[in-house]
Amino acid sequence: MPLPHAFKADPHDHQLCVDEAIEVATRICAERGMRFTKIRERVLTLVWSGHQPIGAYAILKALQSEYPRAAPPTVYRALDFLIEIGLIHRIESMNAFVGCTHPDERHAGQFLICKNCGAAAELDDPQINDAVQRTAGALGFLAQRQMIEVTGLCPDCRPAATG
Ligand SMILES: [Zn+2]
Ligand SMILES: [Zn+2]
Ligand SMILES: [Zn+2]
Repeated sequence: MPLPHAFKADPHDHQLCVDEAIEVATRICAERGMRFTKIRERVLTLVWSGHQPIGAYAILKALQSEYPRAAPPTVYRALDFLIEIGLIHRIESMNAFVGCTHPDERHAGQFLICKNCGAAAELDDPQINDAVQRTAGALGFLAQRQMIEVTGLCPDCRPAATG
């Protein structure tokens, strides 16, 4: 399995991640007849400023350097839109947002989150999804939304943190 871009041990040109995210978002919005406004594009670009989830307040601060009148509802509305169409995920445990690496398919969020550097790598393993659905179903539970957040140490932080 290749290392996710989120881990520093995988050096990559992050601008390509940003460019691709914007390109895919533009296409998805066009396909679904939704408007990819400048603000939505800026907010998505800010979420993609790294592979670490970013909080709404940090997004607002950055946005205000270009749009001084941007207010919290502006950011929340854009974030809601981006979540709704699957371009970003909300990491509940961090109250922060991260870009989705495969927004074309509907999927459950599965993340490995480094508690040292904050990198969040998205997994895309349908077997994990299926296992949860199956187990829940066997207990008579109707699972509707899955968000798996596994915290730990990424390959880069592991040696330092474990000595
Ligand atoms: Zn990247
Ligand atoms: Zn995703
Ligand atoms: Zn780390």
